[in-house]
Amino acid sequence: MIDFLQDEAWNSLRRQMNAPLVAADAVPATVVGGLSLVELARLATDGIDTTVDQLKIAPDQTLFLHDTRVVVELAPHADGLPTIHLTACATVQAALQQNCHVSTRTARHVEVSVVNPDGEWDVATQQKPVCVDCLRILNWQGMQSDLPDALQQHIAEQFDLSDFYQIYPATLPLTTYQKLWITTGERLNTYTPDWPEVAEYVKTYSRWICTTCQRSFAHHRDQLLVDHLNGLKYDNTIGNLRVCCVSCRAALS
Ligand SMILES: [Zn+2]
Ligand SMILES: [Zn+2]
Repeated sequence: MIDFLQDEAWNSLRRQMNAPLVAADAVPATVVGGLSLVELARLATDGIDTTVDQLKIAPDQTLFLHDTRVVVELAPHADGLPTIHLTACATVQAALQQNCHVSTRTARHVEVSVVNPDGEWDVATQQKPVCVDCLRILNWQGMQSDLPDALQQHIAEQFDLSDFYQIYPATLPLTTYQKLWITTGERLNTYTPDWPEVAEYVKTYSRWICTTCQRSFAHHRDQLLVDHLNGLKYDNTIGNLRVCCVSCRAALS
């Protein structure tokens, strides 16, 4: 296979176009709207490990990782399957600094190893429980605390993640919710964990040129900064990022 990074014809075309040589591993986790396609694919399959405080709470109480609606699993207290949470219920809110596993998977089933009556290991299929408080918050199929326990149990057992995502889609236009988040301030204004990579990528992409004074900082890279135009440090949408040198930023602020 041709190594395109070494191919002279491609390289001369690249130089004519003034395009920087960007190594594949310099492509950031965040490209547009918060998550890369790889991360979206991971969310739909294995899921992603993060911490609860990285999640945003939407006005309808459901949870988002960047601008993707996810369901959350906290590590179970004892041996057993983790419970699926759909909202910022009391349990989720009490676990702010804890690790969690988020996904957009629609299957509740997992394969687990069990010991069969002969004392041998077997594979069995089990269903992860869903948080009853979350179902009550969403009023899922009329779920309320004053319903008979058996009925609540039945609703929880029958709960289907595909139905959930039908009503609460995993992705939606960012602007719809972002406006609400800005006004409700549901999220701490902190940088995303991948911010160093994102900033490096944006500076490389701008060819180390300050967008204000147009000077190149290729040889003084520490003088170049990336600003969030709307002031939200976690909003790494490309249109929200501005490459700026230290002196221009001082003049602007
Ligand atoms: Zn819950
Ligand atoms: Zn400048």
